[in-house]
Amino acid sequence: MDALPPTATDVLISIDPADGSEVARVPCTTRAELDSMVDRAWHAWRTSGWKSLLPHRRAAVLHEIASRIAAEKESLAQLQMRDNGKPLAECRAMAESAVGTFRYYAGVCETLETEVTPPRSDYVSFTVLEPFGVVACITPWNSPLMNDATKVAPALAAGNAVLLKPSEDSPLLAPELARICREAGLPEGLLQVVQGRGADIGAALVAHPGVRMISFTGGTATGRAIGEVAGRRLVPAALELGGKSPHAVFADADLDHAVAAVVAGIFGSAGQSCVAGSRLFVEASIYDEVVGRVVERARTLRLRLPSDPAVEVGPLASFHHRERVIRFVENARAEGGRILCGGAVPTGGIYDKGAFYLPTVIDGLSYKARACQEEAFGPVLVALPFQDEADLIEQGNGTAFGLACGIWTKSFKRAWRVGRALEAGSVWINTYKMSVTTTPFGGFKDSGLGREKGIDGLRLYAQVKSMYFGLHEQPMSVAR
Ligand code: NAD
Repeated sequence: MDALPPTATDVLISIDPADGSEVARVPCTTRAELDSMVDRAWHAWRTSGWKSLLPHRRAAVLHEIASRIAAEKESLAQLQMRDNGKPLAECRAMAESAVGTFRYYAGVCETLETEVTPPRSDYVSFTVLEPFGVVACITPWNSPLMNDATKVAPALAAGNAVLLKPSEDSPLLAPELARICREAGLPEGLLQVVQGRGADIGAALVAHPGVRMISFTGGTATGRAIGEVAGRRLVPAALELGGKSPHAVFADADLDHAVAAVVAGIFGSAGQSCVAGSRLFVEASIYDEVVGRVVERARTLRLRLPSDPAVEVGPLASFHHRERVIRFVENARAEGGRILCGGAVPTGGIYDKGAFYLPTVIDGLSYKARACQEEAFGPVLVALPFQDEADLIEQGNGTAFGLACGIWTKSFKRAWRVGRALEAGSVWINTYKMSVTTTPFGGFKDSGLGREKGIDGLRLYAQVKSMYFGLHEQPMSVAR
């Protein structure tokens, strides 16, 4: 990564949210550097032979990247833990996920075949998938290595050069991934890391005429802004955005499992997950019982340092993000929400140094209240009762988002009906937050455009070209 020497204004400082200590300083990419990175990416793409490499050779490099991530799993997990405060076990799982993603796309890249249409008498046509050239991948801070891999692996598998821009709040993993890719044999210049703030270098990257496709994961407002620029530039933009996912419990559900999943679905990763089940809907007849059990569990969750093997909930990813969560809960209170547990910054011991926030459950609000409409991206659950399926569907679909949902019921038919009716890209029935590289992932409505993962996740980074070969026995006539 090229960079200017650090100065007071062009440096990102990675702070460990567990204790406020400084982890590293990362120089921001300047506009002039961005121009040369784009040029270098095009040069590498045109001269390295990557795009026309036989698929099994490209796959071999992706497999080697996977093996090297696996070999460095522990140090990568430790680095992510310090960069964004996730519990170490989760960081290890994220590194495993990155390994699986590179392996999966290594396999898929070997299956990308040219399609041949049945020959006609005077021509035969082929459809081939071609890379865009230079693509921009922009990622958020919540799961940096996993999100980077979810974009970089298919983008490279499809034959592109990648400019990867991680979040200014978690800048440390992307350069490690770029180093590993280089060491694994990826030609120089095919993966470069752009560092800096979104409104500055992120916006410059999206607007850069040398960038032919944009893949973005982050907040809905940013996604909309990027989509507008992409629309004006007529370049495709894949957008993975925010959520306010409903998690519904019917009276016939296995309540032990349902309560455990509701708690894991919102308080895992301290709620900093796009698919967090942040709106709990409970059938009215069991509302008090289920909410009572969720609150009891939320109160006893072990809020610890991310390095503590017993941790269940760690700190938030940054102190300024905690400020947003504090404001969110204050707003919910002002709207008339009842704070059933949490709703405060814990104090004493480790809590005085880290960006911790208590697991919080709120009820007493209409589903139209701001706290039920806006993403907190923190350990904050709003609980609402529902009367019947129709009521659940009206309230559940009553936000601009449509990323995911969960349904707990023993009735297969009801699960099917409600799952089809809820507007969400992923539906979990009697489970929550499961995700696998082979299965497409993405949002309805304001939660995004396009699907990552699976074969769709590779096609995002490719464009279709149709080629016709003439077999005419006679010269072509004007009127056909
Ligand atoms: P964010 O939108 O603030 O930033 C995401 C990335 O975009 C960062 O790298 C940032 O620097 C960059 N950016 C910001 N403004 C930009 C601009 N104008 N042009 C180009 N780049 C710009 O999001 P965040 O706070 O980092 O992440 C949290 C959000 O991400 C939440 O809304 C969460 O739901 C969402 N998210 C979605 C998914 C998903 O797959 N749907 C996954 C994880 C997180």
